[in-house]
Amino acid sequence: MNHTYSRRSFVHTSVMAGAAFAAQPLFAAGVPHFSRVLGARKPALSLSKGGEAATLPPKPGFPVADYHVHLSPQLSVEQAVNLGKERQVQIGIVEHPGPDYKIQTDADLKQYIDGLRKYPVRIGLQPVYPGWSKSFSKSLLDELDYVLMDALTLPRPEGGWLAIWQIDTMVDDEEAFMTRYMQFIEQVLATEPIDIFAWPTFLPVPIARQYSQIWTRQRVDRIIDLAKARKIAIEINEVAHVPDENFLALAKRASLKFTFGTDARNQNAAHFYYCFQMAQKCRLTEADMFAPKRK
Ligand SMILES: [Zn+2]
Repeated sequence: MNHTYSRRSFVHTSVMAGAAFAAQPLFAAGVPHFSRVLGARKPALSLSKGGEAATLPPKPGFPVADYHVHLSPQLSVEQAVNLGKERQVQIGIVEHPGPDYKIQTDADLKQYIDGLRKYPVRIGLQPVYPGWSKSFSKSLLDELDYVLMDALTLPRPEGGWLAIWQIDTMVDDEEAFMTRYMQFIEQVLATEPIDIFAWPTFLPVPIARQYSQIWTRQRVDRIIDLAKARKIAIEINEVAHVPDENFLALAKRASLKFTFGTDARNQNAAHFYYCFQMAQKCRLTEADMFAPKRK
């Protein structure tokens, strides 16, 4: 399975799902994920104090970065750099390592890092499978500016993987699913050598509308505690609209750091709506943001 193309089709289908569900009032309230995907493209008009129409949340008053950009046939590194310049956003590139992907050996990783070093980008990796780091030497991994990982590809007890971001993911038993999902989140946050936790609190389509009931204070606190223990930053994800404002407020109170990520492989890189909105609502400052140093 090609992760790159599948994720891109996810974004496409999620917009379709947003359109389909928009007519259903049940889906409209309090769902950080699909319901607002369309909204992100066409923000509703609101009136400022002066009475003029304000359509976009303001760009934060601190340096902004998109640390979740994938290169693709639609987005070369030069194009990504230009988009970053145009939108005044620092670009961070990630690539998947592992068996199904281009980066499998030290030689592949070295080529990837050396190839990007001449550009003004941060260089990251987005591993998918736990244990990925054993395939690479520590000294080479240390040359990366950062590692970002999500917990959306769950190991199946019978072997293989369940990619819960796929639109056709089934959830038969919500409690059983959440127990398994929390176990995997705990594994990723407690054992994987990562700097940023991506797509935090994302829920698969069948249970997405129960977001606020499912993400109980206990579950949220568990994620925050684990991230804090290993100084892992929280990605505010532009495409999935996660995590929600409540999670972010609690994470901020726990002094966690944040990043913005589009997970884009095209012109959407460095284009933010949800991230800016959350930065405004949670009053994020430069001190709240994680900024990996260029090595
Ligand atoms: Zn990604």
